[in-house]
Formats: sequence, C-alpha cells, structure tokens
Amino acid sequence: MTETEEKADPPAVMIEPIDISKLDPDFREGIRSMPNGEELSACFACSTCTAACPIASTWKYKPHQLIRMILLGMRKEVLSSEEIWLCLTCFECQERCPQNVRVTDIFFDCKNLAAEEGMIPDSIVGLARELTDKGQLYVVTADWEREDMDLEPEVPGLSTEEFKTILKGTRTGRIVGGDE
Ligand code: SF4
Ligand code: SF4
Repeated sequence: MTETEEKADPPAVMIEPIDISKLDPDFREGIRSMPNGEELSACFACSTCTAACPIASTWKYKPHQLIRMILLGMRKEVLSSEEIWLCLTCFECQERCPQNVRVTDIFFDCKNLAAEEGMIPDSIVGLARELTDKGQLYVVTADWEREDMDLEPEVPGLSTEEFKTILKGTRTGRIVGGDE
C-alpha cells in the first residue's frame, strides 16, 4: 500500500457541507438593510455571543453560527430553525458583542421574516392564541400576598377586553385566527 492510499480516509466532518447553489445573498442584504443589521458584516466570528448565551449549549445552531449563516445567505436554514424562537431575548449576546452586532434584534427580524413566510412553530401560535383569547399570557389572580400588603385582592381596573379587541385587528390576531 502506498503512502497516498494509507491516507485515503476522508477527514471527519463536524458540520453538514454547505450547498452554495442554495445560498441566498438577498437574505443577507435584506437583514443588513434593516435598522438592526447595520453592523452585521462586522462580525468576525469570535463566538463571544455564544459564550454569553445562557441556553446556547442546548442549541443545534449557536448564536455565532446563526449570524454566520445569515452572512452566508442560508435563508431556509435560519428561518426554519427553532433557535430563533427559543431565544430568551435576554440581550446577553448583544451586550457583549465586541463588534456591536445587534444579535438579539437580528433574531427578532428573522422571526418576523419567518412569520411572514408562515414558518411559526405551533407552540408560538398556541401562545399567541392564548393572548388573543384571554388578553394576557399570565392570568393575574386574587392573591393573598396582596391582602397581606393591604391591597385589594383583585388588581383594580384590570381589563383585557380593549386589548383583546385591538389584538384581534392585528396581523398576529389574523394569523392565530386562521385568516392568513
Ligand atoms: S460576539 Fe459579535 S462579532 Fe463575535 S461572533 Fe457574535 S456577533 Fe460575531
Ligand atoms: S438574547 Fe437569545 S441568543 Fe442572545 S444570549 Fe439571550 S437567549 Fe442567547
């Protein structure tokens, strides 16, 4: 066996190869042209955002990888990723980015684009439905702690009716109502 044949095994691949024919430069330019995307191209892939993120260790695509994927134009992969919806919006990544990349806000933009294309996870639609139905995500109940503080047990003036009416007229309301 020659030396060349002994080294014939392919190298271990840590990530899926990227099919460059499927990259969409318009996606990168679209994000970059938004107010939050001004510094996107300044990202030098230092991974500080990922190091700062409290939940990235459970994500398939880490924050710095998502930013790189946006820069590469991996529209489908980014917009269909569950990570953009799992983001806690704690802004730790954005606060620590040495290049002022607005990581969290860019993920917001990605969510908006994904929603435009109907790619909203069922769990998020369920939450939005809860909001449009009840007018609040967390029902404020009578609380013994309020009584202990000499407050009325019920929060006074709490009305969700107007909010529900407004919300139903928004696009969120139309999406969860099945009108879009
Ligand atoms: S911290 Fe900023 S510069 Fe570093 S990888 Fe994340 S987005 Fe890029
Ligand atoms: S804002 Fe989202 S991506 Fe950034 S650190 Fe928090 S959870 Fe992670």
